[in-house]
Amino acid sequence: MNEQTSEARERAQALRSAIRRFYDEVLPPDLKLKSKHHQVLDKADYVQWMRLLNEQGWAIGHWPGEYGGQAWSLLERFAFEDQFARLGCPWIIPFGVKYVGPVIYTFGSPAQKARFLPRIATTEDFWAQGYSEPGAGSDLAALRTEAIRVDTSEGNHYVINGQKVWTTYAQWADWMFCLVKTTRDAQAQKAISFLLVDMKSPGVTVKPIPTMDGYRHVNEVWLDNVRVPVDNLVGAEGEGWTYAKFLLKNERTAGAIVGMAWHALDRLKGLARQHSAVPSARLQARIGELELRFLALEEAAYQAVEAMMRGTDHGAEASLIKLRGTELYQDIAEAAIDTLGFAGIAYDPADVHAGAHPPLGPDDAEGIIKDHLYNRAATIFGGASEIQRNIVAKGVLGL
Ligand SMILES: Cc1cc2nc3c(=O)[nH]c(=O)nc-3n(C[C@H](O)[C@H](O)[C@H](O)COP(=O)(O)OP(=O)(O)OC[C@H]3O[C@@H](n4cnc5c(N)ncnc54)[C@H](O)[C@@H]3O)c2cc1C
Repeated sequence: MNEQTSEARERAQALRSAIRRFYDEVLPPDLKLKSKHHQVLDKADYVQWMRLLNEQGWAIGHWPGEYGGQAWSLLERFAFEDQFARLGCPWIIPFGVKYVGPVIYTFGSPAQKARFLPRIATTEDFWAQGYSEPGAGSDLAALRTEAIRVDTSEGNHYVINGQKVWTTYAQWADWMFCLVKTTRDAQAQKAISFLLVDMKSPGVTVKPIPTMDGYRHVNEVWLDNVRVPVDNLVGAEGEGWTYAKFLLKNERTAGAIVGMAWHALDRLKGLARQHSAVPSARLQARIGELELRFLALEEAAYQAVEAMMRGTDHGAEASLIKLRGTELYQDIAEAAIDTLGFAGIAYDPADVHAGAHPPLGPDDAEGIIKDHLYNRAATIFGGASEIQRNIVAKGVLGL
């Protein structure tokens, strides 16, 4: 281990300790309770949560110092996401601080930096990610939403027409970063530009898509003659694909899935102990196998982070962790439901909202079905498993 890595490890350990103290001493009881009971959080909860993280300097800890961050190493970044997920804390909403913020400070204009970055850090603006479209998910470059530039004496702007889909929390968003085609002439990827769209603009319509857990996380976003000032173009016209890929690299950091798998496994072990004095040999073997898969995942994640820090990574590490981590998480969730037997089937979507009547099923089973149903999507969003396998095949096997 070289000096740089050993120093980063120490800082990462110190961050983990600070997070555990924050959880014990600072996190308000209502947020803690909602997370513990796996209830859904509403916008006010998430804003409160993100602001608390920002007060600790953590929401943008990975940003460079000149933009208010702490220039965390990849190991600190991993520890931050992993430790909060292990504690079962709320999702660290990535759209502002993790996705669009770094794009703006890397490629944006001075005016965009001054206008957007401080409000991203404090979650004064809530952001959504407008990448996917019907027919353009895995094959993102096939997107069809068009932004035609119109220059007039009253100002220059783009007029956007098209549809985005699966847009998480668009119903709450003040802004959406959006991939659009600004020309019909160029080859697909060269036609793409990166625009910042004010969700209050006339012509923006958000339509919820109910998911099978009974909640509304995702939406269709319709853009009908939406006017966006040219000042909201990030970087250069036709260079959006470069920025989109830069963002996707940030999207695929591995900490959260490792921590989530640890938390779910810990909960599964607790359930197994509570629901039978001596868990059956079959259940013990199943948990043992899941635990081994977790240990392999955790070790692979540490090796990947350290390889990235040394610059010796092969480029497919994040895909491998995402693939194995999401599959493991889904298998743990299934094992938890099986452990509960018939009680595992009881589910009323109303239970996941705070203040609802006592949940169906055993007290310790809250949220298990919700998590199971929602996390079927984990092997789709952020790049479907088949796509991750293709990346691994290319990066590791050279196929
Ligand atoms: C809960 C949820 C939240 C989401 N949030 C957002 C969001 O906030 N913003 C956003 O922009 N998008 C979001 N998405 C969209 C997500 O990124 C896409 O669903 C994902 O990229 C897959 O695209 P698709 O749905 O069009 O499926 P498709 O790309 O049509 O894929 C369908 C199937 O074909 C397989 N497949 C496709 N191409 C290949 C290939 N080349 N080789 C092998 N198999 C292939 C896929 O793996 C998949 O199994 C979200 C999705 C979900 C489910």
